[in-house]
Amino acid sequence: MITKIPEGQSCQAFDPMMFLPEKTFNIISSDQFPNTSCVAPAYVYIEGAHGKKFLCDFHYYYELNMTRDSWVKNGTDAWEKIQEYIIDEREKIKETFAKNVTTGFTIGKECEIGSGTRYKCNSEAFVRMKKKSSNSETDAFFYCNFHFRKNYYRYYSNGVVYEDIYDIIDERYRMTTTIAEESSSLGCV
Ligand SMILES: [Zn+2]
Ligand SMILES: [Zn+2]
Repeated sequence: MITKIPEGQSCQAFDPMMFLPEKTFNIISSDQFPNTSCVAPAYVYIEGAHGKKFLCDFHYYYELNMTRDSWVKNGTDAWEKIQEYIIDEREKIKETFAKNVTTGFTIGKECEIGSGTRYKCNSEAFVRMKKKSSNSETDAFFYCNFHFRKNYYRYYSNGVVYEDIYDIIDERYRMTTTIAEESSSLGCV
């Protein structure tokens, strides 16, 4: 019985053979990531109708919401069966936030994901990004915690490190909601 997320555990989204830690035991060494499509650290573990898996915060959100949408469409409200057993350690994400950053650049900003469309995120922004090659303040853009992490790891999983191309101001210490509350009130994904 898994009772907590193991140290160093990566997200296992999209790779059914990697769902169980014992499946990777003889394939990779302990300092390598499993061969999944996502290298983000796992913060959630679920067992249920879709099997057992460790997921990052984004892929947990995706799994839960895509399942809910499709099951409700099919006339069943049993979508919660994908997480009959769940370990949710998402609040630990706050331990990764930068500390002692007080520029105030992010105060009063909204996440820009979906800007200009009716599916705008609208969450409070806590992260400011700007290309290292740009000197213009108008090139800066803002993310909420959820979308910063989603995009950070989407790039990272493809070999691109944000810090190499962006100056990042991380003021997520200002976040007053829980990680779960933020993800449940997003205007878009
Ligand atoms: Zn993931
Ligand atoms: Zn957002």
